[in-house]
Amino acid sequence: MTDYAGPLQGAIVALAAGDRGTAKAALDPIAGQIWTDRFKMRSSAQPASTTPLERAAKRSFSIARSANTFTRDHFCCVYCEKRVVARAVAVLLHDAFPEAIPYNQRYKHGSMHPLFWTNVAEADHLVPGAGGGSWLELSNHVTACSHCNAVKSDAPAEKWRIGPSAHAWDGLVSHYRAAWDHAGRPREKYHGSWIRALERAAAARVSNVASSWTPVSAHHSDQLPPMPEQSE
Ligand SMILES: [Zn+2]
Repeated sequence: MTDYAGPLQGAIVALAAGDRGTAKAALDPIAGQIWTDRFKMRSSAQPASTTPLERAAKRSFSIARSANTFTRDHFCCVYCEKRVVARAVAVLLHDAFPEAIPYNQRYKHGSMHPLFWTNVAEADHLVPGAGGGSWLELSNHVTACSHCNAVKSDAPAEKWRIGPSAHAWDGLVSHYRAAWDHAGRPREKYHGSWIRALERAAAARVSNVASSWTPVSAHHSDQLPPMPEQSE
């Protein structure tokens, strides 16, 4: 399966720098692709959320909780270790380059770029509530790529590879706000909510690391996770 992270990174970084031409060119290798595959959806086998517990589970993946989960996991799928981005970042690329990145808010089949089915971050319950896991505990929330989340069965979690990857990858969060600015601030409420939540999650992680880390000698500093770049 194609790794879309490279073109996405090239496009968002260039857009954040105000260089639309380079951003568009970065998307060329994946421009205009349409997802036509079908796979058995785990969610389609589940009944609509009707019980209070199920409604609580849905609420547990608020924007803030999702942002914290993705940030803690370095925006890598815990199952396949693929680098992912928040769906909102992919939507921003659609907003800036609609022909290169087709998107349909209702996920209409045959109208979506494959990256929405492969490289978008989704929050998943490691152990489903039905299997005794907590719906609400952050420790039971993990980052899954949209593909793994869709095809993963409710099989025991130990069958799946668990553990955040060590990739130096922040899901392009550090460029999101500037890229949105240069795209003309589309969908102000939607992107505004995600930008604030993701920046807050990134800042919280940095301050957690800073308060728990005691410098011993300079050569240990490479053990620190990368600091997100400042964005204006
Ligand atoms: Zn995955």
